[in-house]
Amino acid sequence: MAAIPSVKVAEVREFSRIERIGTHSHIRGLGLDDALEPREVSQGMVGQLTARRASGVVLEMIREGKIAGRAVLIAGQPGTGKTAIAMGMAQALGDNTPFTSMAGSEIYSLEMSKTEALTQAFRKSIGVRIKEETEIIEGEVVEVQIDRPATGTGAKVGKLTLKTTDMETVYDLGNKMIESLIKEKAQAGDVITIDKATGKISKLGRSFTRARDYDATGPQTRFVQCPEGELQKRKEVTHTVTLHEIDVINSRTQGFLALFSGDTGEIKSEVRDQINSKVAEWREEGKAEIVPGVLFIDEVHMLDMECFSFLNRALEDDMAPVLIMATNRGITKIRGTKYRSPHGIPIDLLDRMVIIATQPYEEKEMKQILKIRRVVFLSDLRETDPNYDFSLNRCEEEDAEMQEDALLVLTRLSMETSLRYAIQLITVANLIARKRKAMEIAVEDIKKAYSLFLDETRSTQYLKDIQDEFMFNEEDEQQSEVA
Ligand code: ATP
Repeated sequence: MAAIPSVKVAEVREFSRIERIGTHSHIRGLGLDDALEPREVSQGMVGQLTARRASGVVLEMIREGKIAGRAVLIAGQPGTGKTAIAMGMAQALGDNTPFTSMAGSEIYSLEMSKTEALTQAFRKSIGVRIKEETEIIEGEVVEVQIDRPATGTGAKVGKLTLKTTDMETVYDLGNKMIESLIKEKAQAGDVITIDKATGKISKLGRSFTRARDYDATGPQTRFVQCPEGELQKRKEVTHTVTLHEIDVINSRTQGFLALFSGDTGEIKSEVRDQINSKVAEWREEGKAEIVPGVLFIDEVHMLDMECFSFLNRALEDDMAPVLIMATNRGITKIRGTKYRSPHGIPIDLLDRMVIIATQPYEEKEMKQILKIRRVVFLSDLRETDPNYDFSLNRCEEEDAEMQEDALLVLTRLSMETSLRYAIQLITVANLIARKRKAMEIAVEDIKKAYSLFLDETRSTQYLKDIQDEFMFNEEDEQQSEVA
């Protein structure tokens, strides 16, 4: 097969993961010690020790690249922290290992075939670490000149005069360089480096050639030697991009801008074949390594037979990531068939998996999770709502933000309803407490929140009580059928 002449990777260098603030924002890892033993409460994680210990082993194997192409199922009752554990693993793996997360139901809402959606998810979870040589130029800034042309496009053009030991050179600045210069606030007298491959400019410090600014005794010019060791250095840099990113920027119909809109559409299999052979070539030449990442599919029972058979096959590929799935289903029908199977997953796929089970929480664990959520809720607010007035919350002491008896009532409620419902009540109770200008959430705020919003059991009861007043009520239909 003809390899494409040059596979583009440069455009995605700055692509970084966007962290979401939400349900699991308190989770910062799996909370394990160096021996992979789970700490009771650590990194936002509470209890669920056996599952966390098992996940720690999986994590270590992922780090060592030992279990690519394997599948792990996290199974347990609703609200027992399956997604939280997967998020903890993602955090623990860090930015250099690709981690893709999706819900099983998502594949039905995309404008592409189910198998294409899964292929993209797989390829988003495989990293390619590319090694490149670059030149780093170091010198002292003589002059920076940035102009905005009159076209009104908002674009900027610029020039930078840089002095190395033996000469002054004028560089025309690209967008990237202008951005870094502005970010670094580099000006005349600063010592900077320019990475020729990426255009990134970094400030190393100030040269003392113009030491005037630093002399407290008054305006006098003291000429100090320019730092040695400038000129050009060769350095090896590595970039990690995903196979999917390489696919998209090399796909003629999409172009790399699709990476930002997320609107990638279907990618032709020829493009993928070409990328695969190019990457294989790079691997042979020692220019690139494959970094198998993780694909996490939540609510995996939402997938159907076609998808399961795709997964079975895809896991056999030599560039497969680790597949982690979660489900809260017991023995149930495999979607789209009349066959029942544990977790709604076909036996042949189950046979490939290792299964991690999560257990329901005890009261003290629920209490601890709620306490953490309360604190994190406030710090999330700080990031997401700049207008929030924190003077009413005593943030310095964790315990001061919710009265102990309010936390007890909330914990009891979480045992009777669900952990998720109780977590939601924190937000509502916080609003109610603020309305009465209170410093902390009290029992009355929790009670008010509980009376305003129904949990699942009360909602079901309510429906049963007043079902006749609802439209399209099934009980009516059953009665009319009988009649
Ligand atoms: P479902 O089966 O309904 O999808 P789940 O098992 O995936 O549920 P999560 O969504 O992970 O449950 O948990 C519900 C909430 O409780 C989340 O906000 C989660 O972050 C938090 N949580 C669950 N378990 C823990 C834990 N062990 N430590 C800290 N927070 C937890």
